[in-house]
Amino acid sequence: MRKLIENVMGACYLSQLSSIIVQNALFFFIKLVLNCQYHWLRQAKATLVFEDYLLCYLCCQHCSGLFYKLIIWFICIRCSKVADIIECEGHQHFLFYDFKCREKCNGCGNECWHGAFRCGKCIFALDFGCLTLPHSALHKIDEHMLNLTYDNDKEQCYCDICEQERDPNFWYYSCSICGTSAHPKCVLGNIPFLKDGMKWPYVDHPHRRDLKFFRNVEGYSKCSDCGKLCPEDVIKCEKFTCNYITHFYCPLPQL
Ligand SMILES: [Zn+2]
Ligand SMILES: [Zn+2]
Ligand SMILES: [Zn+2]
Ligand SMILES: [Zn+2]
Ligand SMILES: [Zn+2]
Ligand SMILES: [Zn+2]
Ligand SMILES: [Zn+2]
Repeated sequence: MRKLIENVMGACYLSQLSSIIVQNALFFFIKLVLNCQYHWLRQAKATLVFEDYLLCYLCCQHCSGLFYKLIIWFICIRCSKVADIIECEGHQHFLFYDFKCREKCNGCGNECWHGAFRCGKCIFALDFGCLTLPHSALHKIDEHMLNLTYDNDKEQCYCDICEQERDPNFWYYSCSICGTSAHPKCVLGNIPFLKDGMKWPYVDHPHRRDLKFFRNVEGYSKCSDCGKLCPEDVIKCEKFTCNYITHFYCPLPQL
């Protein structure tokens, strides 16, 4: 009898627990939606959507997953979490978002087309692309986590992955134990936020439905468009009789 009561109590506890988890998840979801209902960027209502692929308006990255739709723009979940006034590890002062900022980003050197975060005290600007870079990442070049590094490094100016020069003024990933340093694009890849293996019918090819995006491919494949080797960030046709493979950026997009 005691065992029976314990079992029943156990079952009750479990069902209570699962209902608490469900309620909490629901509450968190509602809170998330309510929190971001009005986004500071445009003071407009933002709605949460899930998409296989979209280009984020702010970081200009190809992304898969959750987005906020703000009027006609889609903002990836990483960019939507950034407030309008921020503290950033790479800079000692507060940064404020400026819609009109067209300066060069101090993280990557690119011009800031969609505004940027700028310092009120000195000349310093950061775009969304750099602000939302992961703080650490793994790459086969090093057994340790590589950390995003902000300080100017005047001595080591080569990337250990591509072996090309690295501008010491811009952010990079490094391992303080081994002294490895590398370009963010070499550590993360060119298209780090797009789901690996997803369908990619946006290329002018007879078998569009069989095209997929892959971050890495085995072997030595040559790009069907430019003829150079394409080991990573490729669009590949999976049709049995077709060998089409191309670099992500080689064909003109057919959206
Ligand atoms: Zn984004
Ligand atoms: Zn940047
Ligand atoms: Zn400053
Ligand atoms: Zn590199
Ligand atoms: Zn290391
Ligand atoms: Zn190519
Ligand atoms: Zn094909």
